[in-house]
Amino acid sequence: MARVDTIVLGAGIVGTSIAVHLAKRGVAVALVDRGGPGEGTSYGNTGIIEGNTIFPAAFPSSFSALLRVALKRAPEANYHLLFLPKVAPWLLAFRAASQPSRLIETAQIIRPLMARAVAEHEALSAESGAEKYLRHTGWLKLYRSDQSFKAQARELEVAARFGIANVPLDTDAARALEPSLKPVFRHAVHWTGAVSVSNPLALTRAYAARFAALGGLAFTGDARSLHRVDGRWRVDTASGPLDAGDVVVALGPWTPDLIGPLGIKLPLAVKRGYHWHFRPQGNAGLSRPILDADNGYCLAPMEQGIRLTTGAEFAARDAQPTPVQFDRVLPKARELFALGDAVEPKPWMGSRPCFADSRPVISRAPSQRGLWLAYGHGHWGLSLGPATGRLLAEMMTGATPFCDPAPYGAERFMK
Ligand SMILES: Cc1cc2nc3c(=O)[nH]c(=O)nc-3n(C[C@H](O)[C@H](O)[C@H](O)COP(=O)(O)OP(=O)(O)OC[C@H]3O[C@@H](n4cnc5c(N)ncnc54)[C@H](O)[C@@H]3O)c2cc1C
Repeated sequence: MARVDTIVLGAGIVGTSIAVHLAKRGVAVALVDRGGPGEGTSYGNTGIIEGNTIFPAAFPSSFSALLRVALKRAPEANYHLLFLPKVAPWLLAFRAASQPSRLIETAQIIRPLMARAVAEHEALSAESGAEKYLRHTGWLKLYRSDQSFKAQARELEVAARFGIANVPLDTDAARALEPSLKPVFRHAVHWTGAVSVSNPLALTRAYAARFAALGGLAFTGDARSLHRVDGRWRVDTASGPLDAGDVVVALGPWTPDLIGPLGIKLPLAVKRGYHWHFRPQGNAGLSRPILDADNGYCLAPMEQGIRLTTGAEFAARDAQPTPVQFDRVLPKARELFALGDAVEPKPWMGSRPCFADSRPVISRAPSQRGLWLAYGHGHWGLSLGPATGRLLAEMMTGATPFCDPAPYGAERFMK
């Protein structure tokens, strides 16, 4: 039987980053996953390290937008009808958190973490030899109409208040940055401080290799085998039982499978999302990710091809994939960029683990000694993985945390 100080359950970008940060602080750590590092949700994202993002994704603010979603005409969202009653309480909380004043509040609360997102990735990638995966070219949001451009004026105002760099561009100026874009949009905003990743899987693997180089141990096992033995925690792995005084649960959308049976019920929902890689036609290419704001999809240049990612689908995490949003967004994407053939026969699906207040939980678990939680990073898990790793490692080792962790506490759901 192996004994360590801390077991980290889940080797996504969040768990792997936590493992590295603990190992760097001299903690003996074992990282446990049923698969390889970065093969879960962290595999399939758009690759944007969104240190500059201000507002979280919000519930539709107008009746017409909501109606489009309800009628399944909205490119940015989809749902399974039979799942709606189940997710209704979460949707109501999400709608309440999408009021303009609450969005500003969330932007302020998440800022200390977001402000470290890029710097913590830079530090971790430098020591992991993974800088080659980071592109310092920002990202580009495109607006096809004057109306949709005007609708994000408040975001630019708040950005100015937070000191977040951006450059509004007209069509020609945006095409000077990205000559392969076709002129089907009228405005763009270049968020110059964002960084993007050319291969999110390779990045998490590089961080996992850094963890191993620091003496960290990696095991294959089912996290749901976690139980207590003589006051310590034990997990069964393919190499035998593993014991520790502390356990971090970083299982992303699968976290409730473990903590639910331990009596910890926090209101997590998943927003499923899809990606599909396409070969660019001819010499077409992109130097940074692009959001088509009017149509709710992104195009991101990846080592595998141009990755088209979709918005949110409300459906049970384990229900069969229903990638109908591609029917809605692909014609729009082809208007904008010369997408060629699909690289894979069918799209990939993942599940963003989301709390309705768009904040992760990074805290001690309520009522379970030695249990820590780090999950629910929603649309921002790639961005916030290393910042979360640092924050939780500081909390667990008694160092002064770089920011106040209170807003990310699990207790906020228990008031
Ligand atoms: C389409 C899409 C686009 C996105 N774009 C972005 C973006 O541009 N920028 C951004 O910041 N974020 C983005 N995200 C969100 C981001 O990908 C997630 O928030 C992040 O990957 C969550 O990381 P995680 O480590 O918490 O979870 P995961 O990566 O899912 O890791 C959890 C791990 O737990 C393991 N596991 C689960 N159950 C068990 C078990 N029983 N036993 C053992 N191991 C288990 C899994 O194998 C997995 O490796 C996007 C997400 C999607 C779906």
